Amino acid sequence: MLTAKTNSGNIFNLGNNYEKENLLILRNMEEFFCPVCGEAVSLKLGNQRIYHFAHRSGAICREIFENETLYHMKGKLQLYHWLIQQRISAELEYYDPIIHQRPDIMFHYDGIKYALEYQCSPITEELFTKRSKTYFQQNYIPLWIIGSKHIKAKRSNVFSLSNFEYFFLRKTKDGQLILPSYCPKEKQFQILSSIYPYSIKNAIASSCQRSVHNTGIEEILEPKLFHQFNLSKWTYETESFSINWSLHPNPIQTRFLREIYNHNLNLYLLPPEIGLPVTHSLLIQTPAIVWQTYIYIDNLQNKSPNALIDMKEVERNYNKRIKRNEITIRKIPQLADENSFIAVREYFIQLERLGMVRKRSETMYQLQHQVFVPQSNREKEERRNEFQQKISSS
Ligand SMILES: [Zn+2]
Repeated sequence: MLTAKTNSGNIFNLGNNYEKENLLILRNMEEFFCPVCGEAVSLKLGNQRIYHFAHRSGAICREIFENETLYHMKGKLQLYHWLIQQRISAELEYYDPIIHQRPDIMFHYDGIKYALEYQCSPITEELFTKRSKTYFQQNYIPLWIIGSKHIKAKRSNVFSLSNFEYFFLRKTKDGQLILPSYCPKEKQFQILSSIYPYSIKNAIASSCQRSVHNTGIEEILEPKLFHQFNLSKWTYETESFSINWSLHPNPIQTRFLREIYNHNLNLYLLPPEIGLPVTHSLLIQTPAIVWQTYIYIDNLQNKSPNALIDMKEVERNYNKRIKRNEITIRKIPQLADENSFIAVREYFIQLERLGMVRKRSETMYQLQHQVFVPQSNREKEERRNEFQQKISSS
């Protein structure tokens, strides 16, 4: 940790850039105590690690802070200086005795009290949710930033994101879904946006890097990002992913393959309307190609043209699939209030743009024409080309 109490009860903050000689003198004169448990702590002034305080062995609250890595401490310190330089009133490792929580940085901005949590090591969803709730109860807005080392780019615009990384996803005031991270080595923020997962672990996303030196707080809280979606990349990744898992399916995937087979469908010859990217698809952990196939089987297949599709019925069918574990919802603590069915609604909006259905009322769509299921690769290619043209002109 970077702060400690002195004999006089003041907080001594190593974030204030002291010279080593001065700290060496101070270390001989002053005693330091942990602001949380009150036990004596030592001031460490090694050459390798960042200057910091450490509990002595056997201390009870030792575990909470001593696993802090150099990476984390550096990032925390840089983020603190970043705020101070913007003349934002900030306190490093502020300890709130009422909630017994200690955000990395507490700061006030625009009349709001923020708890910045720079998280570099995995924590459970329960702990993440509990900490966030407690902050809200005490009128803090939690600002969670993940260490960039967790964000793994697989290819250009393709990222591997685990459940833990999705914890950091939040919605901005203008409705963007962003995942903010910070790298103390590069001294830059990295913000992922337009995140479209095509599998449980992988997503297509836009990434924006910003140097800590010329980025203001507003650009992290409410970034204005430029989005560009590459549909052919999406189609390519979705398809190669499907081929991959269908060769070695797990039990849930086997169930899916069996069901589509019973409905005269073939994973390799699905209509191009199945597996479309929609904004809130990230709320659903099940790949888009799978949940949209279920939507098709449950609500669209075997319906004659002009048939009505009741969205309440669609929602019931969708919830049944969830109950049977055929569709899994992704746990995103900061988006816990969002109903994943919004993704299905977005899917129908897409289908309307493509002319497959037409909206009749708030809860009713009408099928315009039957979905054409290709019977050969050649047919599939033809359909795909038509489809791409339609989508780029819609
Ligand atoms: Zn302590």
